[in-house]
This record gives sequence, structure tokens and C-alpha cells, in this order.
Amino acid sequence: METRTSAALFARAQRLIPGGVNSPVRAFGSVGGTPRFIARARGARLWDADGNEYLDAVGSWGPMILGHAHPRVLAAVEAALQGGTSFGAPTEREVRLAERVLERYPGCERVRFVNSGTEATMSALRVARGATGRDVIVKFAGNYHGHADALLVAAGSGAMTTGVPSSAGVPKSTAETTLVARYNDLPSVRALFEARPRDIAAVILEPVVGNMGVVVPTPEFLAGLRALTREYGALLIVDEVMTGFRLARGGAVERFGLDADLVCWGKVIGGGLPVGAYGGPAHLMDHVSPLGKVYQAGTLSGNPLAMAAGIATLEVIDETPDLYEVLEARTAQLEQGLRRAAQDAGVPVTLNRVGSMLTVFFTDEPVVDFESASRTDTAAFGRWFHHLLARGVYWPASAFEAAFLSYAHTEADIQAMVAAAREAFFALA
Ligand code: PLP
Repeated sequence: METRTSAALFARAQRLIPGGVNSPVRAFGSVGGTPRFIARARGARLWDADGNEYLDAVGSWGPMILGHAHPRVLAAVEAALQGGTSFGAPTEREVRLAERVLERYPGCERVRFVNSGTEATMSALRVARGATGRDVIVKFAGNYHGHADALLVAAGSGAMTTGVPSSAGVPKSTAETTLVARYNDLPSVRALFEARPRDIAAVILEPVVGNMGVVVPTPEFLAGLRALTREYGALLIVDEVMTGFRLARGGAVERFGLDADLVCWGKVIGGGLPVGAYGGPAHLMDHVSPLGKVYQAGTLSGNPLAMAAGIATLEVIDETPDLYEVLEARTAQLEQGLRRAAQDAGVPVTLNRVGSMLTVFFTDEPVVDFESASRTDTAAFGRWFHHLLARGVYWPASAFEAAFLSYAHTEADIQAMVAAAREAFFALA
């Protein structure tokens, strides 16, 4: 595979941008090799700067649920573009996207748009602290909620991939207000509440983890968190940045019947443009400025192009009754194909999947938390990844990320992915 143009661009980028990338996992640091510079994308396919074509299993890390360059999304953005790119004033599109988001989350009465998932979770924490008058938060090891200081403690995603789950530059005093519990381990949460019964403002979690690879919550864990937070007067923040409108129209909240106090969104609701959001009942969200004393703002928040992409995406989702069924069926097809191929090749793997989110862990044990994810064979993953890439499948370049499928992936696309993966497993064996 010719990669000269990507390699030259990467060399130029490395002289200008730290590591040559604007988000760490893109650098292929843990798998090695030349990161592909992507020139364009359509449907389920990407083309790199050398003209190589790939079947995409990354989906821009989640947003592209309809596939790339969906005509409705492009038309909506083009129409918005002609009207100007930013006004710093309220617009009808913000109201329309707010209506679309809130109608799927009956527990949420208000939503505030921001520019990223990071801003969404950071702001939701501020609301929780402002509303409860408490400073401490609880997060789970291996969960990633963006790169705000308080949440870069025992973080997953690129932080885990690059081996710095707790970032330098986070003040000790900030990190001390973040307590870390084990995912799927209710007693670890209870112990924190028992030690600090009146200090904890909120528990924040990924309702299905995507950021240490896919890890599935047990129903008892989810129910127990709700009961514990209630018992101690803390809020439950469900971070649906990855799962919102991905696992169901109403995200994990709908899929698992969760009762969240605050919800965070990103990715799908921006249709590939920069959007995040946080929401909840009026009595909590009315703490946000200008009504209340929790300050949060943004020059580009509610940007007209971003709102247009989000509205078009959610409209197409609503107009496609079989969307989640098809996503489920296609991703199940991929899961079964991968499982069979790995078995035939004699390569031990654990496949974790919920809906259209899937991770292949190179291990023979169940992966249920940060420790078990950390014990998986990342070197084997890296070799498998490169065999796949050479065969035209663009898989996430980290053992600790989720692959995402889109509605644009056909049965034939999945068969092609499985065929490539089969060869990749046999190349490892
Ligand atoms: N929360 C979750 C669950 C995420 O997966 C991510 C990003 O991957 C974020 C928050 C941060 O979102 P962003 O990268 O848009 O800041």
C-alpha cells in the first residue's frame, strides 16, 4: 500500500503540531506506522491522501451514524452556510435542535449547547457542584469524559492508550476532588460515599463504556448507582456523548431505562460538526447563567452550521424507522464473523458489543473493568490492526477504543470487513 503522501504530511505536521496530530490517538502511537491523512469520505468509506480506499470502522469516533457526507446533512449545512457562519445571537436552529434532543429524553426539560463533549461534561459537573454545594465527584477508572482537569484522572481513551491516564498539568488540589471507583463494582462506590457522606456532588459514568474499549454495565450496577446517589443526596450524571442517539434514539437512558439527573451529549447530535450539550430538569438546569449562578458561555455555542448538521442528522434518524434494527443486525453480523474467524485461527479474543459499538480484546478472559482491559494483549492488537489496514479496513488505532458502524454499512461491507479480519487473525496465529 502506497503511503508516501501520508508519510510526508505526517513529517510536516510533526514539525508544526505536537505529535503531528490534534488529538493523540490519531498519531498511531500505540500501534506504530504511518497515520493515514484522510482526504475525503462518503458513506462507509474513507480515502487517504495517497488515494487508498478503506472501509471505515471508526466513524470519526462516533458521530457518523448515518455514514459520511450524508446528502441531507450536506444540504442542511450548505443552506445554513449561505446565511452566514456565526452571529453570537440566538437562532431558530438552536430551538429546533433543543426540541429534537429533549423529546427523546423525557427526564430532561432544558438543554444547553456547547462545542464539544469535554465542555458538556465539564459544565454538567459545575451544575452538580453549584446545585448541591458540594465539591467532590466520583468517576470510574477507564471512563473518559473529555479533557477537563477534574476528569483527567484515571481516564480512558487516548489517555489510557498513551499510558497517561492521569495527566500532568492537573493541579493536585483538583485531582483530589475526583474520587475514582471501579466500573461494575458497586461496593467500590459505596465505600467512597461512606467515607465522604456529605461531600460528593455527583457520580459521572459512561452508561456503556467506549473508552477502555467497550465495557458493558451490569443491570445491578446501574440500579445500584441510582440508589446510592439518592441515598447520599448526590446527582447521577450520565455521559451519553458516545451513546446518545447511538444505542437508541434516547441513548443508553432509554435502552437501559436509566433515571439520570443530568445527561451529557456530543458526537451524533452534531452530525460531524462540533457540538456538545448538557441537560436535565429545570430545577437543576436553571442554576445555569443567566438564570442562576453557574457560569457557562461560548462564542461559537449553538453555531448555525453545527446546529444545521445536528438537526438534519436527528431528522434522518427519526425518518428511518429501521435504523437501530439495521445497526444492531449489521454489528451483530460483524461480531459473529469476527468471533468465528478468531476461533478458526486459534486466536483468543473477547468481543464486547452493545448496539453498533464493538471492541475486539485480545485476551481469553472477560473484560469488565479497567484492570481486565489493561491486561489485554495490545501488541497482538497492534499487529492485527496493521493487517486489517493493509487490507483496506480502517479500524480504531487503539486496543482501548470502540469501533462504530453506520447505517451506510451494507451486508457486503461487513462481509468484506470479516474477510479482511479473518486473514488478519490467521496472519497472527
Ligand atoms: N465523553 C465521552 C463518553 C466521550 O467518549 C468523549 C470523547 O470521546 C467525550 C466525553 C469528550 O468529547 P469531545 O472529544 O467532543 O470533547
